[in-house]
Amino acid sequence: MITKILEGNLDNISLAATALKSGKLVAFPTETVYGLGAIATDDDAVAKIFKAKSRPSFNPLIIHFKNILDVKKEVFWNDTAEALARTFWPGPITLILNRKNTSKISVLASAGLKTVAVRVPGHYIAKILIQECGAPIAAPSANESGLISPTDAQHVMKSLFNKIPYIIDGRATKIGLESTVIDLSQDAPAILRPGYITKEQIEKSIKYSVTVNDGSTNGTNVISPGMINKHYSPNVPMRINATEFLKNEKVLGFGPKAPTLAMNLSYSSNLDEAASNLFKFLHKLDHSDTQSIAVMPIPEVGLGIAINDRLRRASLKD
Ligand code: AMP
Ligand code: MG
Repeated sequence: MITKILEGNLDNISLAATALKSGKLVAFPTETVYGLGAIATDDDAVAKIFKAKSRPSFNPLIIHFKNILDVKKEVFWNDTAEALARTFWPGPITLILNRKNTSKISVLASAGLKTVAVRVPGHYIAKILIQECGAPIAAPSANESGLISPTDAQHVMKSLFNKIPYIIDGRATKIGLESTVIDLSQDAPAILRPGYITKEQIEKSIKYSVTVNDGSTNGTNVISPGMINKHYSPNVPMRINATEFLKNEKVLGFGPKAPTLAMNLSYSSNLDEAASNLFKFLHKLDHSDTQSIAVMPIPEVGLGIAINDRLRRASLKD
């Protein structure tokens, strides 16, 4: 199969929607990172996502919808979901809710769990694509499982070359970091994956506090299977919170004190800027003449929590 990059115009979005409806995979931009999409109600198409990414089948996918009305057809809605959706959708927050018995979403997409991860994305290409398909789209990040997430069409090409027919090019993604995942299927909401929407923003919206669970377990069961592994990793070794650097290391800096020649996530210590540069710079550093990467400390506040989550997982050894 030859992978083609399509310019993100209306004709090409229609072409991509036709491909999706015939059971094929299409990579497309969202405001967070590029997604690898399949029609969420089509088991065979969803199975192709796991194969193309080499993603373990126990790791469920996020389902992307056109609007709240369509989401409510598939899952049990509640007041917290309503408040968060009203505040942040379309946008970078994913809600875990209990699946309705009548739901048409592929069981494989949610890895056989009783819950489904749902999101209404804000990127215009994603929105038109879902609209044209007339069905929700299951989409994890468009990269080989465990490696750095893609924030432009070339990153997708590098990772999924000749494994998928089409990539819709929407240039660099705005946010560059995945959605926040919050579990609303239990009485007490819990953040399972820190993301662009912070804990503070969520608490302000729902007016009570939420817990943060690293998603690996609730005591007995794994509740967010994708969060237990090394993830987002470059092919070369990487260490974090580095304040001194070795001679052969490439430095990923942050703030005005970074070495002059280092790539700098944000000279002005701006966390939004750092989030949007994070995967882009890791892709740049992840090539054959890099021996190892050292990343400077990022403050553990606001969006820094999500950035540090990605860096920590990326730096884990096999
Ligand atoms: P990705 O789409 O690969 O960026 O990751 C999606 C994240 O959402 C992973 O960490 C999954 O484990 C998590 N997720 C998806 N569906 C569910 C679900 N039903 N319950 C808990 N976590 C989920
Ligand atoms: Mg991913």
